[in-house]
Amino acid sequence: MGRLIDPKETVEILKKYDFIFSKRYGQNFLIDEHVLGKILRAADITKEDAVLEIGPGIGTMTQALADAAGQVVAVEIDEKLLPILSDTLQDFQNVTVVHADILETDIRELSRQYAGGKPFKVVANLPYYITTPIIMGLLENDLPVTSITVMVQKEVAQRMQEKPGSKDYGALSLAVQYYAEPYLAANVPRNCFMPRPDVDSAVIRLTKRPEPAVKVQDPKLMFRLIRASFSVRRKTLLNGLKNAGDLGYSASELTEAVKALGKGETVRGETLSLQEFAFLSDTLSAMRNG
Ligand code: SAM
Repeated sequence: MGRLIDPKETVEILKKYDFIFSKRYGQNFLIDEHVLGKILRAADITKEDAVLEIGPGIGTMTQALADAAGQVVAVEIDEKLLPILSDTLQDFQNVTVVHADILETDIRELSRQYAGGKPFKVVANLPYYITTPIIMGLLENDLPVTSITVMVQKEVAQRMQEKPGSKDYGALSLAVQYYAEPYLAANVPRNCFMPRPDVDSAVIRLTKRPEPAVKVQDPKLMFRLIRASFSVRRKTLLNGLKNAGDLGYSASELTEAVKALGKGETVRGETLSLQEFAFLSDTLSAMRNG
């Protein structure tokens, strides 16, 4: 059998198993060799590496990852794909397919069980309906993950790497950049998938930082401030914080903290860097503890 990245092979295997794509699971299978090469290069996989693939589909990327990596663990939710994966991955001894929902999976345990406790490089053509929860789950929970190289919707990739002041800068940019360094590796047109999705895609690599990008006394408070300030775009930061209601600070405390930034009372949240949100958060923390 040839490699699935050849669209003819993909069509053949889908026919063999009478497979019907599930929209619910965001199934758009990769059929472009050039793009596959770009993902592998961006992920920088060697035989020393353990790879966690999220959503292997029919195993297109899995075959290439198995060639490049020491160990591959692939987590797939759709049980209809399991017989196909046993077929397409039968020649690869270093792949374990796990039937599970990635959002319910204990990744530390996967690494212990199937990769000798090695941290994972995560590689995936992500189901778009749960891109953000998957990525934030991988970043937030201090998991054995060193990098995340993923195909996502183009606009989402853009948001993850955006800097203050630009149109797409927001809570996702700040959350991702707190934990990781983003690098946009490739733009991918919609005709590289079967079936063809309604949106364009991009490959982004997030290299996890050994320590978060800024030191902040209470990261939870900082992220509540970030969410509050972006929930009312195009209003002032101070209005956003006051509207949030549940921050536990009075209007005058919030005003004082915003003033301490030195950018005026009418500063907008979307112009603040991660460092400035950390400063704002620490100023408010000090009012309670100091
Ligand atoms: N990796 C394959 C490829 O590139 O051709 C398939 C990518 S397709 C965009 C997304 C895959 O993720 C599908 O196989 C889908 O069934 C699977 N999936 C969707 N939701 C999932 C979840 N919660 N946990 C694990 N896999 C999931």
